[in-house]
Amino acid sequence: MAQDSYGRNIHYLRVSLTDRCNLRCVYCMPEEMHFAPRQELLTSDEILTVARAALDLGFDKIRLTGGEPTVHPDLLYIVRGMASLGFSKLSMTTNGLRLKELARLLKEAGLERVNVSVDTLDEEKFHRITRWGKLETVMQGLHAAEQAGLTPLKLNAVVVRGYNDDDVADLAALTLKHPWQVRFIEMMPFGEVAQFALDGVVKQHEIIERIEAKLGPLELMDDGRLDGEARLYRLRNAQAAIGFISTVSNPFCSSCGRVRLTADGKLRLCLLRDDEGDLRSLLRAGASFEELREQMSGMIFRKPWGHGLPEHIIPERRVMSQIGG
Ligand code: SAM
Repeated sequence: MAQDSYGRNIHYLRVSLTDRCNLRCVYCMPEEMHFAPRQELLTSDEILTVARAALDLGFDKIRLTGGEPTVHPDLLYIVRGMASLGFSKLSMTTNGLRLKELARLLKEAGLERVNVSVDTLDEEKFHRITRWGKLETVMQGLHAAEQAGLTPLKLNAVVVRGYNDDDVADLAALTLKHPWQVRFIEMMPFGEVAQFALDGVVKQHEIIERIEAKLGPLELMDDGRLDGEARLYRLRNAQAAIGFISTVSNPFCSSCGRVRLTADGKLRLCLLRDDEGDLRSLLRAGASFEELREQMSGMIFRKPWGHGLPEHIIPERRVMSQIGG
């Protein structure tokens, strides 16, 4: 099992398949985003080689993300490859726009489940937040994912003041009608969109107040123990939990067991710090599998303890779409 210098077991790899996306969410990237030249991105086989090295180091969980993973031309090849490596958990985070056509194929390729980003149930607000998105298409994708068995479904909502802070109760109410876990994510500051995120963040306590004012009390589940990165609550008679991923107001660094592979081949050791190890150069310099594995192990050992938001340390070099959220 890979360990960092603080004794944390690092076992969860989030893989950004591409920095490209078919949306331009206001908190994620500027509308005129510049993408990395294709030759700077890892090839599908390079991605699979890094995943195999992670498996060899004891990783058991992989999440495909981006950018938007479903715009990658080799998505099904990569999912099949990951599934055949034998990770016990294989999931994907997506904006859902392409799930209607892809859900069944993804399931057949070996994907277990998906998280889908849905920030509001209001078509106009959805378009304002995502700049390019159509909510109806995402909802069709959600139902297709459910039918294909990419379950249990989890919905992610980033809450942005002035954009969707009025909508959190409507989103939470989905758990009364569907077995979909709805998770509220506190907006985090990155690079060019950092100031926007700092100005517009809505913290967990306010989201809870807004939900309870409309839907009644939220009951804390599992004595507040984390489910992955989320603390879970439940509405009375709900079919699923409501999660809070509160990196800003309630960080979970002490239980962090993840690292990220960026689309351009860097091993990112903490979402909110710029420390990275360069795997692409190693791969392209002809490193053996054993060398790759050893270098990754050394990088992981140097994983920083936690983020520095309270000390106003903000990651400058990349926005979320380039890291793989
Ligand atoms: N395109 C996919 C999607 O929309 O889910 C996957 C990539 S996206 C970067 C992954 C997650 O990061 C999404 O749930 C998105 O809402 C979230 N995200 C993006 N920028 C964020 C920010 N500044 N703070 C918090 N979450 C953010």
